[in-house]
Amino acid sequence: MNKKLSIIIVLALMIGLSVQGKGLKTINNTNDKKNTTMKFELPKLPYETNALEPVIGKQTVELHYGKHYQTYLTNLNNLVPGTKFENADLETIVKESDGAIFNNAGQALNHYIYFLSFSPKGGGEPSGKLGDAIKAQFGSFDKFKEDFEKASIGVFGAGWAWLSKDKDGKLHITQESNAGTPLTKGYTPLLGFDVWEHSYYLDYQNRRADHVKELWKIIDWKAVEARF
Ligand code: MN
Repeated sequence: MNKKLSIIIVLALMIGLSVQGKGLKTINNTNDKKNTTMKFELPKLPYETNALEPVIGKQTVELHYGKHYQTYLTNLNNLVPGTKFENADLETIVKESDGAIFNNAGQALNHYIYFLSFSPKGGGEPSGKLGDAIKAQFGSFDKFKEDFEKASIGVFGAGWAWLSKDKDGKLHITQESNAGTPLTKGYTPLLGFDVWEHSYYLDYQNRRADHVKELWKIIDWKAVEARF
């Protein structure tokens, strides 16, 4: 083979690989609308799996993030091809789907927000505009916590408690069953407490209320404020 031809072949291969690379681009960031070929993947956790102890144990993080959350993504990646959602982002899928696709997309979105709301250095109170809005609407941060705990503890069976904001910036605390999310009400989810038993049973067994009260210690309010 002459030198020119081999250079052309190498170049063609490189172009081919780079195009293929773009096609495999993955996304789980709901704000990223540039990617058209969707393959949803776990986000990298900004903490070690044991970093949230003793509030959430290492084994719980490993199973919840590595198995439960991963399963929702795997299911979603298997369900979407061949449907109208093939090129849709996660938010669109959640808003417009139902049945199995909704259940897995809803959980993919919910767990993305959930796992990126924690920090071993978390806790304290929100500041800035979100802190002001919470105080203005609930009277105090403690009253907001009380209402949010009540909503979390009161979910019957598997589900979520959510803090979200509507288009006017008004805050809402809602209870959602199963894969429910305030996104389908037109609200922007800010903070979600997962009260499916898989989120707390290894650490707290049946004591959901104890788990919920402990969660405040690891909330990364900077991450929550960024969604407001
Ligand atoms: Mn969960």
